[in-house]
Amino acid sequence: MASSLTVAQHRSNLAQLRAETETNIANLQVAYDELDPEEAASDVGAGEDEGGSEGDLTRFERDRIRARIGEEQAFLEVIDAAAERAQGRGWKQCTKCGEPIGDARLEALPATELCVTCKANRGNW
Ligand SMILES: [Zn+2]
Repeated sequence: MASSLTVAQHRSNLAQLRAETETNIANLQVAYDELDPEEAASDVGAGEDEGGSEGDLTRFERDRIRARIGEEQAFLEVIDAAAERAQGRGWKQCTKCGEPIGDARLEALPATELCVTCKANRGNW
């Protein structure tokens, strides 16, 4: 663990994270499209005897997936903001207090803009 995180490595980590997030969104989108509440509601008879609740469950699942897609898309923006910071000098610094974020933390969470201390005072990345 001697080598410190280089900006090139950091950018590549961000690019990889972005690709993973885009894959997540695509997968969620597929799962979302496959859940058709109308179809599920009328498709009773595959041995399911709980008739009416099936459609509700599907709607609930769709809402859940849509929320996840929203989160992933918000995360993409966070990644893009981090990639933008990686163009400049302060990419290792906390955007709030200006202290170094720390290589280990940046490697684990490339999109983070906050040091551990500031993160503890805020909800997300
Ligand atoms: Zn900080």
